[in-house]
Amino acid sequence: MSLKRADNNLGAIAIYPGSFDPPTLGHVSLVSRGLAIFDKLIVAVAINPLKSTLFSVNERVELLKASLDHFPPKRMEIQSYEGLTVEFAHLMGASAILRGLRGTPDFDYEFQMAIMNKHLKKDIHSVFLMADQEWFFISSSTVKEAASFGADISHMVPRPVAEKLALKFKKNEPEK
Ligand code: ADP
Repeated sequence: MSLKRADNNLGAIAIYPGSFDPPTLGHVSLVSRGLAIFDKLIVAVAINPLKSTLFSVNERVELLKASLDHFPPKRMEIQSYEGLTVEFAHLMGASAILRGLRGTPDFDYEFQMAIMNKHLKKDIHSVFLMADQEWFFISSSTVKEAASFGADISHMVPRPVAEKLALKFKKNEPEK
């Protein structure tokens, strides 16, 4: 079985889909490690009308752009997408879907998704990377919750995200 080659000769392409609401240093670490494996990585911001998010899709794309601007633009793209992840991967000429695993709850969910995706498109492979021990405790939801209570989350997220979270929750503070 061979990995699909894109027309532009860039080699093996993977998409890295997620909500990224907001991006964390765990996500950044996964992008960095994904780029060590794949020739091109497309960070794909999912638009899911069933999921309510703190940040709009445009905000999430902008935050990712600001947080990942140190990676080579020829090898990493940021896009939003709607609909089936495997369809988007296929459209992008990708042969793999990259996901991170932080522990057994992630594993149970990801295992189900990977099997479903395999049924939907058999030539797209799910690839999992274990979270780095430095970041495995970080999730977008815990970061949001902590930030909403005024905790310092600056060591968990890229600087543009820390600034945006501070702004977001400042706006929501009741008038004194
Ligand atoms: P989703 O709603 O699709 O799970 P997330 O933005 O929460 O979107 O996560 C996107 C991907 O990044 C998932 O595969 C998730 O497991 C992975 N991920 C999230 N946080 C981390 C982290 N700290 N370390 C490694 N992978 C992570």
